[in-house]
Amino acid sequence: MTLHNSSPKPLSCAEFQEQLPDLFAAGGNGYINDPDLLEHLRTCANCSALVRDLQYIADQAKQLLQPTHEPSDNVWKKIQEGLASDSSYAVERNEK
Ligand SMILES: [Zn+2]
Repeated sequence: MTLHNSSPKPLSCAEFQEQLPDLFAAGGNGYINDPDLLEHLRTCANCSALVRDLQYIADQAKQLLQPTHEPSDNVWKKIQEGLASDSSYAVERNEK
């Protein structure tokens, strides 16, 4: 017997990327729960980087498409905290 379980053959990058528009159209955040897609994502650095980019873009687009979510004080606080925790932004202040 072979070690092939339910997957007859691994997805190619083209097949994987064919599924991406559906993923990002359905939920809007590109959440992947298809085992075949996850398997490819796990083994392919190229596609995992692509998905990361798409998820980032989808996230940004979602914020743009939802004007009801006005930037609250809480959001700005988080941004400021994010900047403060990034050491590259602290260099100027700590310059000797
Ligand atoms: Zn791939």
